[in-house]
Amino acid sequence: MLKGLGVQISPWAHMKKIQQNLQIIPLGGLGEVGRNLMLLEYKNSVLIIDMGFRMPEEDMPGIDYIIPNIEYLKNKQKNVLGIVFTHGHYDHIGAIPYLMEKIWHPQLRIFASSLTRAIILKRQGDFPLQPKLEIQEVKDGSKINLGPFQIEFFRQNHNIPDNLGLLISTPIGNILHTSDFKFDENPVNDLPTNFEKLRNFGERNILLLLSDSTGAEEPNHSFSEKTIQENLEQIFQKARGRIIAATFASLINRIQQIITLSEKYGRKVIVEGYSMKTNVEISKILGYIKVKKGTLIKVKEIVKYPDSKITILCTGAQGEGQASLMRIANREHKFLRLRKGDAVIFSSSIIPGNERTVQILKDEILRQGCKVFHYKMMDIHAGGHAQKEELEEMIKLTKPKFFLPIHGQFSMLVTHGEIAKGCGIQEKNIAIAENGQIVNLTPERIFIEKGTLPSNYVMVDGLGIGDVGEIVLRDRQTLAKDGMFVIVAVVDRQTGKVRGSPDIISRGFVYLRESKKLLQDTRKKVIKIVDEAAGSGGAVNWIYVKDEIRNKIGQFLFSKTQRRPMILPVVIEV
Ligand SMILES: [Zn+2]
Repeated sequence: MLKGLGVQISPWAHMKKIQQNLQIIPLGGLGEVGRNLMLLEYKNSVLIIDMGFRMPEEDMPGIDYIIPNIEYLKNKQKNVLGIVFTHGHYDHIGAIPYLMEKIWHPQLRIFASSLTRAIILKRQGDFPLQPKLEIQEVKDGSKINLGPFQIEFFRQNHNIPDNLGLLISTPIGNILHTSDFKFDENPVNDLPTNFEKLRNFGERNILLLLSDSTGAEEPNHSFSEKTIQENLEQIFQKARGRIIAATFASLINRIQQIITLSEKYGRKVIVEGYSMKTNVEISKILGYIKVKKGTLIKVKEIVKYPDSKITILCTGAQGEGQASLMRIANREHKFLRLRKGDAVIFSSSIIPGNERTVQILKDEILRQGCKVFHYKMMDIHAGGHAQKEELEEMIKLTKPKFFLPIHGQFSMLVTHGEIAKGCGIQEKNIAIAENGQIVNLTPERIFIEKGTLPSNYVMVDGLGIGDVGEIVLRDRQTLAKDGMFVIVAVVDRQTGKVRGSPDIISRGFVYLRESKKLLQDTRKKVIKIVDEAAGSGGAVNWIYVKDEIRNKIGQFLFSKTQRRPMILPVVIEV
């Protein structure tokens, strides 16, 4: 243990971790798309790779984001030597403002490429109470030393520029982390994949390959960014009205393609949505987005141009409630309304869990006389991540002894494992791990420990982080589904009898005025329950009485309505 930590014992001490091995601990991103966070631990040194968030699912009312659980690092902050960020997507950097405080110390070293660094720092500006982050800039070929880890960064193509893979040498052996990637001969504002470099890595004894699995279930090869642009261009060729392109704010390549095409077809571009605006601004300054003078105009200037000369770039392709596209479609946007003849492009795939919301949004847009384009070709997943052929090629080029698929739903990880087997990696050398598992690596073998570390969802709701747990969420789900039913009974302390008639307040359950009979019966039942439980007077266990009301009235209401509202019994003694 390092100095200054006192004698606090880690709550996971009972797990007797094997300290001589190198341990790879995914706390997010394995078994899901998003929320990427991985630890590499050797003796008492920890390296963190990425700190991402994911969007809530549809059945999580009120939740803004889901972030990884890093309870495991509690009391061992000082062991964390550094954090490396592979690229600027929010599923790799989004949790920083919520997690950094928990691990930050003055010696902590942080590394990111120029664009990733700028996106992180700009976002930190929205969280003024955060520790000020010093992020060291790294690029293709940079090498850094962090205790037992030596990291060499290398360029990888993706759908955001300045994405870096990691070659990490450790006392146990060399580990190659691909980051999110695809092989692209015709990227946007970027150099094509450097196969020579990957081949060289293959000559340097790669012990373990950690490779992006998001595209593992897709056959063949991912589309080049050039092909994606050609597909987008078909829409530009045909569109007569405005083009409204919704995408992720961090999908910098797609933003560039839409700007380039707008320039080619004489359209002015309006950028809508706070995160989209800031990312365009940052990328412009750093040269990752190239835009001609006069292309970008303010939303108020829209009236100066005919519809056929306008492109609106906005956020909201996932149907996010507060994003620009949703506000435009719902007529809540300050300046913009949909118009007949608009072409609306959803230029990112639907993240699992958002399907219904996006469907409703699409229908609403169609209802207002617009055209909707949602090509699989423009998907972030199909577009940004290596598919079967590329994944095979990555394994063949780097020739690892062991293989651990990362980034993706469990089925994607399993499929990627099969791909590795097909490339000649022995089954015992392939580990399929999920969040919270500890993968041990020695020069001879790879194996997963029995126990798991906490890796459950930590939910961010407004300013609260982690204070909305499973129980609060379950309550919200019940409220959303069947409403609420409050019973207020005033009980005489002396006699233990209910005074008068219990009050009933209900929301989202039944329309009270049309349910008089039901309410009358409920009141009678409440009086009976209280009388039976407390009617003898003396010391009354009111918690028991409330439970009785909750259970029996719950059963009664279900038998009459087939609904299960949340029942809140309130007993007032007088
Ligand atoms: Zn990514």
